[in-house]
Amino acid sequence: MHYYVIHLPLEIPKELIYCSSAEIVEGARVIVNLSGRLWTGICGAKTRPEEDKDIRYKAVIEVLDTVPVLSPELMKLGYWMADYYHCSVGKALFAMLPARLLPEMEANVIWLSENVPEPFIPLKKAIDKSENPVLKTLRKELTSYPLYKRIEEGEELGLLKIERRLNHKDKPRTVNFIIRLQPTLEEDTLPLKQREAWEKIKEEEPSFPMSNISSTISYSAIKALVKKGFIKIEPRRFDPESVSFENSSPLKQITLNYAQVEAIKDITEGFGTFNVNLLYGITGSGKTEVYIELIRHYLSVNKTVIFLIPEIALTPQMVDRFQSNFGQILAIQHSQLTEKDRLIQWQKIKSGEKRIVIGARSAVFAPLPDLGLIIVDEEHEGTYKQESAPRYQGRDLAIVRAQIQNAQVILGSATPALESWHNAQNGKYKLQKIESRPLDYCLPDVQVVDLRDEYEHSLISAPLLEAIDKRLQRKEQVILFQNRRGYSSFMQCLKCGKLITCKNCEISMSYHRDREEMQCHYCGNTIPSPRKCPYCGSYSFAYGAPGTQKIEQNLKILFPEAKILRMDSDSARKRDTYKSMYNRMKNKEVDILLGTQMISKGLDFPLVTLVGIVMADISLNLPDFRAAERTFQLLTQVAGRSGRRDKAGEVIIQTYNPQHYAIESASQQNYIRFATEELGYRKKLYYPPYYRLARILFQSTDLETLKKEMSNMREVLYLLRKQIPMPQLLLLGPSVAPFSKISSYYRYHLIFKAQTVKILQNAIRLFNSLYNCPSNIRKQIDIDPNTLM
Ligand code: ADP
Ligand code: ZN
Ligand code: ZN
Repeated sequence: MHYYVIHLPLEIPKELIYCSSAEIVEGARVIVNLSGRLWTGICGAKTRPEEDKDIRYKAVIEVLDTVPVLSPELMKLGYWMADYYHCSVGKALFAMLPARLLPEMEANVIWLSENVPEPFIPLKKAIDKSENPVLKTLRKELTSYPLYKRIEEGEELGLLKIERRLNHKDKPRTVNFIIRLQPTLEEDTLPLKQREAWEKIKEEEPSFPMSNISSTISYSAIKALVKKGFIKIEPRRFDPESVSFENSSPLKQITLNYAQVEAIKDITEGFGTFNVNLLYGITGSGKTEVYIELIRHYLSVNKTVIFLIPEIALTPQMVDRFQSNFGQILAIQHSQLTEKDRLIQWQKIKSGEKRIVIGARSAVFAPLPDLGLIIVDEEHEGTYKQESAPRYQGRDLAIVRAQIQNAQVILGSATPALESWHNAQNGKYKLQKIESRPLDYCLPDVQVVDLRDEYEHSLISAPLLEAIDKRLQRKEQVILFQNRRGYSSFMQCLKCGKLITCKNCEISMSYHRDREEMQCHYCGNTIPSPRKCPYCGSYSFAYGAPGTQKIEQNLKILFPEAKILRMDSDSARKRDTYKSMYNRMKNKEVDILLGTQMISKGLDFPLVTLVGIVMADISLNLPDFRAAERTFQLLTQVAGRSGRRDKAGEVIIQTYNPQHYAIESASQQNYIRFATEELGYRKKLYYPPYYRLARILFQSTDLETLKKEMSNMREVLYLLRKQIPMPQLLLLGPSVAPFSKISSYYRYHLIFKAQTVKILQNAIRLFNSLYNCPSNIRKQIDIDPNTLM
C-alpha cells in the first residue's frame, strides 16, 4: 500500500493522508471522500502511515491523471506560497488551475454516440440504468471503475457530454451588435433625437456592440432607426479566439537605439540562469521594444515566456503590439474567457502550442514547458497583489517561480516600487536604465498650478483653460485626469453638519448626479440622493471634492463645441466601451478625454499634446504609508501620456500642495529624487523596504464581540513581544482599521513590522499557535500588504 498527502481546496489545518494500491504521481488529480463528500484533490508527497496509531486510512477513489496537472516546479511554487502567505497548500495549488479541471459532482452525463467503445460499456450501462445520471450517483454505482477519467476522455472523443449546473460563466456570450446599413432615406428627414443617434452611430465602426452607445442614446431612437432602414440589430456570439484588437497595427520597423541595445545586451548576459533585472525606463522610452526583442531571443532557442501586465482590458495597445509580433503562439489570458475557454487555453499552453502567455497576475501560474523568461511590466502596480486568499503578490511570485525554474526576470517600470528600487540599489537586482525617449521625442514641459490662488476655487484654472483652448484650435487632443468618479465625494448638511454615510460601511457616500443617487464606493450600496437632510430636515447641502461627472459638466459649459469623452468605471462597465474609447481617440473623434486612473496606463496617442491633472492631491491625503508613492506614480504615468511623438507635449498639474515632494518630483519627472526622499521617510518610520510588513485583519458584524476579543488578545501579544523583542519586531495594535466598517463588518487590525522576513514569518507562526481565533470572527493574514486601510 502507498500513502499520500492529498491537498484539497479547503482551509483545514491538518494534513490529509489517503492510501492507494497503485502509485500516484505528485501533482495528479485524485478523487477522495472527506466526511461523506467527494472532492477533487491534488496528490502531494508520498508519506508513511503514522506508526503507533491504529488509523484506518481511506483509499483514494480514483486517480485522474498519469501526467500530473501541476509540474514539480509548480508544486514547489505552491508549497512556497502556502508557507509564505499562510494559506493551505490546497488553496495555493488550486489557485493555479483552471476551475474546469475539477469535475463537478452534480453534473449530468449524457451519452451522445451510436457506438460504445469497449472501455465505456460499464459507464453506458450505468447511465441507461440511472434515472438521474449525475456524476455523484454514477460514482456510487461504478465502484472500481475509472469514472472521471473515462468521462473526460469520452467528452474529448465526443461520445458524451456533461451538462454542468447552470453556470453563467459558461454560456456562450452573445451581445447585440448594431450594423450600419446604406439608408435609402435622407438623413435630414430624421427627427432630432434620431439624427443625434445616427451621428453617434456613424462615429463607431461599421458594426459594433450596442452597449458602446446605449448609455447615451435612447432605445426608442435606435428602434426607429431600425424601422427606417438605417441600421439593423443582430445578436453575435462573442468568440474568444477572435479577440484581437481590431486595429491590429502592422508591424513597425524599429531600429533600436543605443540605450535599448545596451539594456538588451546586459540582460542577455544573464541568459539561462536565474537573475532579476529592473528595467527602469522613463515613460515612452521604449521598454516594450526591449521586451519584444528579448522574447524573440528566448523563442529562438525554444524557450517560453510569461509576460505579466497589470490589467489586460486597460492595455489594448500592448496586446495589439504583441499580437502583431507573435500571432498564433501567443495566449492572451483576458477576463472575458469562459471557464471552458480557459481550460482549452490552459491545455494549449501546457502542450507547448502556445509559447508566450500574456495576462494579469494569475498568468504567473501558466503551465509553460521550458520557461525561460518572465517579464513584469509596470511592476509597481497595485493590481499585482491579489486581495483575496491566497493573498499573493504576482511580481514576487514571478521571482520565486523564476528561481525555481532557473529563469530570468525583468521588472519594468518608469516608477519602480520602492522595494524593487531598493533591491536594485543594494545589488540584489541588476539595474538597467533608459533615461530618454527615442528619436529625441522630448519629455513634456510641466507646469504646476497652485489651486489655493485660484479665484473661487474654479475646477479648471486659467492656465489650464487657456492651454485646452489652444489645443482645440490646433485640433490636437487633450487628456484630463481626475482620480475620482461620480459627481462629488460627499454630501454634507449645511445646517447640522452631518454627512450622508453608507449604512454598511460608515464611509461617506459619493454623489452621482446623472442617476440622482448616492453610492458607496466600497460596497456599492446606493440610495436616492436625499432632497432634505435625513437628520435635521434642512434643504441645503455642501458637496465634496469634484468627481469626473462634475468636471464633465463644467467642460461642457466651458467648451460647448468640443467632443468630450468621459472614461471611468461608471461609463465603462464593459470592456467594449474601453475599446471604443481607444478607437475613437485613435480616429480623432474625441477632443478631450476625461477620466480616472483607467486612462493612466499604457495609452499612446500621437495627437495628445496636453495632459491636465485636475486635482493632484486626491490620493495624497489617504492615511496610508504608500499614499505618496501612489500619487507620484500616478502623476508621472499620466504626465507620460503627453507629447509621445514629434509634437511637444505639455502637462499642467493643479494642486493644493505644490510644495509636497511627491508632487514636486512628479512635476520634474524625477523618480530618483522622489525615491531618495521617500526612502528616507520609510526608514525613519520602519516601513518597507527597510522593515517587512504583515497585517492581520479581524472582522465581525458585532462590534462588542470584536472589541472584547481584541482585548483578550493582550496576553498573547505580551508573550509574543517577550519572545521576539524590539527592534526585531514591532507590533502595533490591535486597533481600529482606517476603514472601520466595510460591508457590515467592523474591522480591527494588528500590524507586524519585522527586521527580516524570517523574523516576520516566525512572529506570525508564533501568533497563530498562541492565539485561537473564535469562529465568529474572521481572521485574515496579509503578508506584504499593499495597503493598511
Ligand atoms: P514604454 O514601454 O517605455 O512606455 P514604448 O516601448 O511604448 O515605451 O515606446 C514608446 C513609443 O516609441 C512607441 O510608439 C514605440 O513604437 C516607439 N519607439 C520605441 N523605441 C523606438 C526606437 N528605437 N525608434 C523609434 N521609435 C521607437
Ligand atoms: Zn442636517
Ligand atoms: Zn458601503
